[in-house]
Amino acid sequence: MKKDTGKEKIGIIGGTGLENIAGIKYSGEQFVETPYGSPSDKFRVYENDSFIIYALNRHGANHEYAPHNVNYQANIYGLYSLEVSEILSFSSVGGINLNYKNGDLVLTTDAIDNTNRGSITFYNEKGNVVHIDMSSPFCNSVREKLLKSAENAGISLTNGGTYICTDGPRFETPAEIKMYRIWGADMVGMTLFPEITLAKELGICYGNISLITNAASGVEENRKLTSDEVVDEAKKNTAKITKIIEEYIKNSKRQPCSCKEILKGAAVGK
Ligand SMILES: [Zn+2]
Repeated sequence: MKKDTGKEKIGIIGGTGLENIAGIKYSGEQFVETPYGSPSDKFRVYENDSFIIYALNRHGANHEYAPHNVNYQANIYGLYSLEVSEILSFSSVGGINLNYKNGDLVLTTDAIDNTNRGSITFYNEKGNVVHIDMSSPFCNSVREKLLKSAENAGISLTNGGTYICTDGPRFETPAEIKMYRIWGADMVGMTLFPEITLAKELGICYGNISLITNAASGVEENRKLTSDEVVDEAKKNTAKITKIIEEYIKNSKRQPCSCKEILKGAAVGK
């Protein structure tokens, strides 16, 4: 039976290599089964006087789930059942914006869904038609707090970038990247959708920091892109992400937001 501890509960998705977070104690693993199946992995639980963190490897304990095989519904529903109020999502992306360098962190402000995963929703049954508002895709309050946390930690975080999400698992062609740049995308990844929409459907605040692990296809001429370099760059930058999280949990305050009220006016005829 769950007891209400009065602590703020935060979900972290991504965080491969995230082990020790200063200021909060690791208290073990928690497995959650959901009506949508099993999340990618057990949740690693951290706890201090003010916060409980549930951290999840999006791609599984041993990176066994490719982006198209991640059970996004189970991951988000799992965090929902653990009663998290916000999700901090971290992702590895390819840089489309020519100003980005490998290792840069970008606070994502807008997004394009170029996947075929639009039908993955918690509102699937007949007679329950729900259109979630995406005019403000990321929680402004979580974004502000992430920005402030990075500043306090002395970590450079670019404020603002548009993430385009593809199905994967293949990387993109140079022509696709050229097109995405024309569309206004700054970086390309494979996991933001439907993760963000599912979180919104359940009224959970969602913020994302994207790590540029490589230049997207065609940005650097005649260069082959390997999966290993993406994983290596992600590992190299885990310390920066950890520092931002450490600052984030130093202060329990953040601005009020309306993410919880998202279902008001979202359902047809209700
Ligand atoms: Zn919010």
